[in-house]
Amino acid sequence: METMKIRKIVLNIPHSSVYLPDGVATNEAMQSVIREYTDWFTDELFQMPGFNFSCWSTSVWHNTVRFPYSRCYCDVERLVNDPLSAQGRGIIYDFGLEISEEDRYRRLFLYNKFREKLASKIEENGTLLLDCHSFPIQSQYDICLGFNDDHTRPDDALIALVRRYFEGQGYTVGINSPYSNSITVETPYIYESLMIELNQRLYLDPVTKEKTDGFQPLKLCIEGLYMLLSGGMNVAGIVKVKQTGHRGKMIELKNSLGLRIDINKSEIKENKLRYNSDNTLFISKTLYDTWFAAINRHRESMEQSEIFLSNVPLLWANREMILRAPRYYNIDVPSQFSRASHADSGVMLGELLRLWIFKPVFSSVCQKCGGKAVVYRFNDIPQSSAPSEPKNICVACGQKGEGAGTSSLGALWRVLDLWRTRNQFFTTKAKETASLVELVEACKKK
Ligand SMILES: [Zn+2]
Ligand SMILES: [Zn+2]
Repeated sequence: METMKIRKIVLNIPHSSVYLPDGVATNEAMQSVIREYTDWFTDELFQMPGFNFSCWSTSVWHNTVRFPYSRCYCDVERLVNDPLSAQGRGIIYDFGLEISEEDRYRRLFLYNKFREKLASKIEENGTLLLDCHSFPIQSQYDICLGFNDDHTRPDDALIALVRRYFEGQGYTVGINSPYSNSITVETPYIYESLMIELNQRLYLDPVTKEKTDGFQPLKLCIEGLYMLLSGGMNVAGIVKVKQTGHRGKMIELKNSLGLRIDINKSEIKENKLRYNSDNTLFISKTLYDTWFAAINRHRESMEQSEIFLSNVPLLWANREMILRAPRYYNIDVPSQFSRASHADSGVMLGELLRLWIFKPVFSSVCQKCGGKAVVYRFNDIPQSSAPSEPKNICVACGQKGEGAGTSSLGALWRVLDLWRTRNQFFTTKAKETASLVELVEACKKK
């Protein structure tokens, strides 16, 4: 299904204010409703000053209509002849207070003015009217999406998109539950109207009515929604990263897992990215993968390296099996021995075991148990005047230490290159090489 191409978003924020015009009579009942039924901070949550979207001619900021007074003074969300009038909750709520004709007239005037202003913002086809609210009641839902069953009903694809987006951010979403419908206004243009009700438990202290720690993430989530709606990004394709530092031409970005990467500042410009509040960027999944792939690869190899090192005694004990089976022999030893000059300079596990068996120069004596300690890493820094000792690990007890008969990674490669050119110990590629984890499992079963 084709989603309506959204050309413009208009925000309706009717219930965020707690203010009454000067001189308006109030009482305890009214104050209590103001306290409990104000959509606290929805203006801050939904409005994004300066948040421009490249595909829109004007910013959301300029397309917001916010009622400046409390709903207890005048509820602009209600209808003329609203069914709720019967319960004293029409456009003007009944708190048993005397309201003069003049005051009543003024409130209805403001009501009409507000609705006209909202309608005037819908000045082209393809407008999405977002009806922005929050609610204080107990509900299984964090967020409620509401719409009408008329010409303003958003198409199913849009509803599904918004729903999937919020769910993807970890919120539960009710459709027309616990609230239904969304505001409509008279306009000749084709528009869709979608109500977003945020559960106040996400961001508001129920007693003090102050923002909680949940406020900022929720606001960022709404920013992400605008990004999604404006940029034609699909739900799966949006990732949030945060700038956590900068030096010179480089900036540091952190993803939600806490992984940090450095990228060149120019990348931001090249990819037409825009910072939102809180130094956050929303980037496409593709770009994210490009930027964070290196760190993911690094993390993976660290994990592999850890599996390898923690199982050296087990692998050593099973060396005969490994040397006989190409699918084990051919397992790449995680990093450790790469030479900068060779793009693909991995060492195979079988080769390493042969080095440990036949070339005593690559081993030492375990400081803990006196067993055979084999080299697993050279700190080969060519420029360094005093290369540090190679790292070794005991094949009997797993103790890590330092030292071997040589500190030279080059020495290791001279042996390997010789073996390889002579096809000595050469093992053809197995149809399928096992993973290190599979090998460890196989060794444990024996
Ligand atoms: Zn509301
Ligand atoms: Zn030992």
